[in-house]
Amino acid sequence: MAGRNHLFVPGPTNVPDSILNAMHVPMEDHRSPTFPDLVKPLLEDLKKIFKTEWGQTFIFPATGTAGWEIALTNTLSPGDKVLSYRFGQFSHLWIEAGKRLGLDVQYEEVPWGEGYPLDRLQAALAADTKHEIKAILACHNETATGVTSDIGGIRAALHAADHPALLYVDGVSSIGSIDFRMDEWGVDVAVTGSQKGLMLPAGGAMLAFSQKALEARYTARCKRSFLDIADQISNNEQGYFPYTPSTPMLHGLRKSIDLLLEEGLDNVFARHRCLAQGVRKAVDAWGLTLCAKEPKWYSNSVSAIVVPEGFDAVDVISTAYHKYNLSLGAGLTEVAGKVFRIGHMGDLNEVSLLGAIAGTEMALLDSGITIEPGSGVGAALEHYRTVP
Ligand SMILES: *Cc1c(COP(=O)(O)O)cnc(C)c1O
Repeated sequence: MAGRNHLFVPGPTNVPDSILNAMHVPMEDHRSPTFPDLVKPLLEDLKKIFKTEWGQTFIFPATGTAGWEIALTNTLSPGDKVLSYRFGQFSHLWIEAGKRLGLDVQYEEVPWGEGYPLDRLQAALAADTKHEIKAILACHNETATGVTSDIGGIRAALHAADHPALLYVDGVSSIGSIDFRMDEWGVDVAVTGSQKGLMLPAGGAMLAFSQKALEARYTARCKRSFLDIADQISNNEQGYFPYTPSTPMLHGLRKSIDLLLEEGLDNVFARHRCLAQGVRKAVDAWGLTLCAKEPKWYSNSVSAIVVPEGFDAVDVISTAYHKYNLSLGAGLTEVAGKVFRIGHMGDLNEVSLLGAIAGTEMALLDSGITIEPGSGVGAALEHYRTVP
């Protein structure tokens, strides 16, 4: 098919040419005396992306999924009680990972389309007078449903209950695209991956640990080997890794951080907000609804859009791909066939996103869904034209 594929899945996201170029490097000696010149500033500057001054950052040749495991095994022991809520595929998978690792994960169901239930959390913390809950797991941006939760609110709930549990946050589809404040929100372990807001290929798991989480490793009895941060800590200090790192990934991350800091994180977040608002205006103009149930949950990095009763979202996605060379995200498990997703995170601007909105509109019409042709594009472009 002529023309390029338009990649609008919520990860992997488009990799800017400048990052691709930065990664296109000959292989090098990762034990050379100059290698720390790359590594040390990289780990330092990565802190700015997490908004932490007091924490310590880590880079593993892995993905976000391994990040969940790194967070849990380095800080907890088998049988430890962990609290979470399940409201999408990613919150679900983190809970499952905890169970497989032998943790006592206590979780409750929340309807998909809603986010972290702060009232229920407050009640659970208040009831836990013996402080048996060792950690709280929270998915900041539930990529499956396009729902962003209030992490500062979770910290406030812990504070109000004077509860010492550690707070772990999956920021895979928020960090680098939606405001995330590790120190201010008292996050103990933050997890992200390379292929979402950081605009890199998959294959990098980036984490930040608070001092409290770093301390927890001395008592944590979960088995760990490759994913042990102790080996990273001793090697990173000298500017090296405990094993052969993915050097193209490190050069790509260097460029990614430079791009984000050059634009300014606040501008990056504002750009994502504006782009997302345009998508929401389009959804509204089509007469469709988001999976996210209330504006307070709306995600600025991904929108999950519900197809009308009697239609299959798979048709929309398949038509978009085959006829228009547009890749949209599928609905996962509980919402499979019911929603399709437009990823709007990373290296994007108004015109590229308008292409995706137009392609979606054509695929909706072709799938027999009654919408006014041009209505979504019209609503989005008016928004983009008028936002300063
Ligand atoms: C993509 C994603 C993950 C999984 O990351 P992988 O890199 O695919 O392992 C975890 N959590 C969230 C919120 C995600 O969006």
